[in-house]
Amino acid sequence: NPALSQFGTQMSQLTGVRAIMKDIIETLKNSAGKEFINLSAGNPVILPEVEQLWRDCTADLLASKEYGEVVCRYGSSQGYAPLIEAVVQDFNQRYGLSISGLGKAKALRDRNILITPGSQSLYFYGANAFGGYTTDGDLRQVVLPLSPDYTGYGGVSLTPEALIAYKPKLEINQKNHRFKYRPDFSQLEITEQTGCVIFSRPCNPTGNVLTDEEVSKIATLAKKQDVPVLIDSAYAPPFPALNFTEMNPQFGDNIIHCMSLSKAGLPGERIGIAIGDPNLIQILESFQTNAAIHSSRYGQAIASRAINSGRLAEISTEIIRPHYQHKLEVLAATLDKEMPNDLPWYLHQGEGAIFAWLWIKDLPISDWEFYQELKEVGVIAVPGSTFFPGLKGAWKHKQECLRISLTATESEIVTAMQKLAQVTKSVISKQ
Ligand code: PLP
Repeated sequence: NPALSQFGTQMSQLTGVRAIMKDIIETLKNSAGKEFINLSAGNPVILPEVEQLWRDCTADLLASKEYGEVVCRYGSSQGYAPLIEAVVQDFNQRYGLSISGLGKAKALRDRNILITPGSQSLYFYGANAFGGYTTDGDLRQVVLPLSPDYTGYGGVSLTPEALIAYKPKLEINQKNHRFKYRPDFSQLEITEQTGCVIFSRPCNPTGNVLTDEEVSKIATLAKKQDVPVLIDSAYAPPFPALNFTEMNPQFGDNIIHCMSLSKAGLPGERIGIAIGDPNLIQILESFQTNAAIHSSRYGQAIASRAINSGRLAEISTEIIRPHYQHKLEVLAATLDKEMPNDLPWYLHQGEGAIFAWLWIKDLPISDWEFYQELKEVGVIAVPGSTFFPGLKGAWKHKQECLRISLTATESEIVTAMQKLAQVTKSVISKQ
């Protein structure tokens, strides 16, 4: 084995949920005929209408003269021009913005858009361009203002010590067994040591949606220090529109609005979209030129068709959103029926994304042990402690939560929640 650099050591480790996934894959492989209900998946369900949309866009591309130009050529690092123009038009019209795509006379200062190979790469570029050590040797932090948040942020920084996360405030509705995380503004610090801020909205794993006011408060704090705020909108409107509560995407000088087409049925084509100030976009674009050149042009060409026709936004609100919202309702109703009323269990308010987040307060075993107990009864969900990247210090809450994917079928969700309730009762009674 070659000796690894500091970055090599950091990047060759499996972080967060990827480490658990290895255990899950092995469990499923060695199950010897045992049936599992797998509620760990982050892969979106293949919905027939969504698949048809992408099939139609592909057929249209294949029939067009553009095909050769698209797949047989390299393109610009900023992205494929028709996709950039489609996003500009859609967003200007939808949100009354005046962003521009390619720039008048190709002036870089007019470019508000960057297309990346998936949005994960965007967080990697951002975390390392704005966070980490400066040329003067000062450490600039990558701040996650509300923990828990997306496990993938755990691996994005080449300097792991740069990543810091803040504990939330908890709003608990004891009677209804519901709770909600709020950013704790009495703790959150955005200072001259902050390189950038990142959070997901709607949030993976919790389904939380920060309010418009909370977002603008964070952006204003960051603006005072000229700090970019990357708002991970992988589940946000207009596509995939996996918000079950009102929310308005926020734009502004230091906000980089980051989107993904993965949850709108195109995870394999790797399409991420950043909208922001041209100076910030330019930095990320150069990073991309060095790292990856550009995203798949085939994916970008079919995406431009899906956006221009209006079908992507329409399928998002009419098919994708109701599909997951219904699953969440089934899950919540089953837990309400099956879980003991006298136990302090709380489901996070389901405001979006494709997961439910369950907190069993005072759980006598760790989340990892609870995950093992669930496996025994044929249910797989993800232990919650993997979703607190950057959060230092002990906090029992980290070992009391579970992420449950809404990608299983309705009947699988019902059965799995019944089993989960039984396991909870048995674990508590052994106490
Ligand atoms: N951000 C969030 C909140 C996610 O849940 C995911 C994927 O699950 C990503 C980013 C990465 O998505 P992609 O790189 O496919 O755009």
